[in-house]
Amino acid sequence: MDRKPRVRFAPSPTGPLHMGGVRTALYNYLFAKKMGGDFILRIEDTDQNRFVEGSEQYIINSLKWSGITPNEGVGFGDGPYAPYRQSERKLIYRKYAEQLVKEGHAYYAFDTPEELEEVRLGMEADKSTFSYNSITRNNLKNSLTLSVEEVKKHLDSGNAYVIRIKVPANEELRVNDIIRGWVVVNTIEMDDKVLFKSDGMPTYHLANVVDDYLMKITHVIRGEEWLPSAPLHVLLYRFLGWENVMPAFAHLPLLLKPDGNGKLSKRDGDRLGFPVFPLNWKDPQTGELSSGYREKGYFPEAFINVLLLLGWHPEGNQELFTMDEMIEAFSLDRVNKAGAKFDPEKTKWFNQQYLKKHSDDDLAKIVMKDIQNKLKTGEIIFDESCPSNFESLISNLDYVKEAVRITREKVHFTNEFWSVCHFFFIPTDTYEAAFIAKKWSDKAKEFFGTLKQNYLNLKIFDLASIENIFKEIAIASGVKPGEYMQLFRVLLIGVSMGPALFDTAALLGKDEVIRRIERALKKLP
Ligand code: GLU
Repeated sequence: MDRKPRVRFAPSPTGPLHMGGVRTALYNYLFAKKMGGDFILRIEDTDQNRFVEGSEQYIINSLKWSGITPNEGVGFGDGPYAPYRQSERKLIYRKYAEQLVKEGHAYYAFDTPEELEEVRLGMEADKSTFSYNSITRNNLKNSLTLSVEEVKKHLDSGNAYVIRIKVPANEELRVNDIIRGWVVVNTIEMDDKVLFKSDGMPTYHLANVVDDYLMKITHVIRGEEWLPSAPLHVLLYRFLGWENVMPAFAHLPLLLKPDGNGKLSKRDGDRLGFPVFPLNWKDPQTGELSSGYREKGYFPEAFINVLLLLGWHPEGNQELFTMDEMIEAFSLDRVNKAGAKFDPEKTKWFNQQYLKKHSDDDLAKIVMKDIQNKLKTGEIIFDESCPSNFESLISNLDYVKEAVRITREKVHFTNEFWSVCHFFFIPTDTYEAAFIAKKWSDKAKEFFGTLKQNYLNLKIFDLASIENIFKEIAIASGVKPGEYMQLFRVLLIGVSMGPALFDTAALLGKDEVIRRIERALKKLP
């Protein structure tokens, strides 16, 4: 009988979730949705030494922000297989480890770390490397070499011991990976991994396989770094008698640095000028801050669209996908084998495409919030340089909306709006020096004096009249209108490049335009 597709994302709370981890979660989610299956979030926290405070919540927040919602799991509500945090499932695993020992597929190992270190050094002196495997286990202190009485004595004495898998001596193991095809490994390459530790906790391998079995996982979709563990997992399924329900494996390609030179690591992000984490993360030990896509101003839709295409390709050349379109288009057989190069510039382009999809109204609301935030953080300072109507301008939706409409072509991020539209709220008192040096003249002064006078007499200060009068005066003064347009912009906003000139003047309004021309005429020699 076909089983309902069930997949899981199983991160360990050992730090912030890398964007590669979010991609793994996304592909699992898309696969589940496409197949009408379930997607589970399981927290694999059996390694107490690597536990990092706050990272579990970070994982949950990252998935929520990205719009990747598990059906079951830590932070998303319990399903039938709760709990989903492995530390809370602690008592489940021992029985399977003991079962493996009883059936001859695993053994107790009593070697102390010092004893193992001694063997390792001895072998290194002989120019070989030590691993606890099908050869060395025969000379080490374990239940394969000790007598039944000795083993019992060790166990009863309460001395520390671990349980190791007994990897067959020389056998070919085959893993059929959906993305990579057959992967064949000889067991001679494998070591007898610890399955159960002296602290009473299972290792990743045992807990992962047992939970995938108990949670009825049908497909394991995870990063390529886990491919080397897959043969061991296949062996565990066989030894535990679960081969008939073993999940299918799909190992996703690595995310590579922009130059293609190696894996995109946690360290790369801020060093190369882009985030590698979905959200900001402050290391609880060092206090070091790493930046996140959310705080950099990315839309979550843009972020996951980028992730979608890092390792998967559609049939055609569509680049922008809504979540529904992603679900519709996604399939594992279009996941690439080769690593996916991350392109920070293209990532910004994606954000701009999503920004374009937002209405002026939406963007204005975001910008108004952003201005409030910037006021809070001191990035914008409200002081005497601000006009008296500053507060009413930044809270006037229609005004901000028009400022957004005029400037939206210029930005990739909503948090860039302030830098391209601040002059609608705070008048400038500096004027682009190089431009003024070149273009300011007595004739120009006269022109803008006349312009001001004509604007003053205007009853209706709208786009058409502002432009017509400007052109009429230019022609009357014997200059081409284009010649003074940039200069007019400098007078109004301080710089020669900027949004459409007459729209800018119309939004500023008659009083403010006149004020700004007067101020410039006073300031400029
Ligand atoms: N706990 C592993 C991790 O941190 C999970 C690997 C897997 O999906 O099997 O990524």
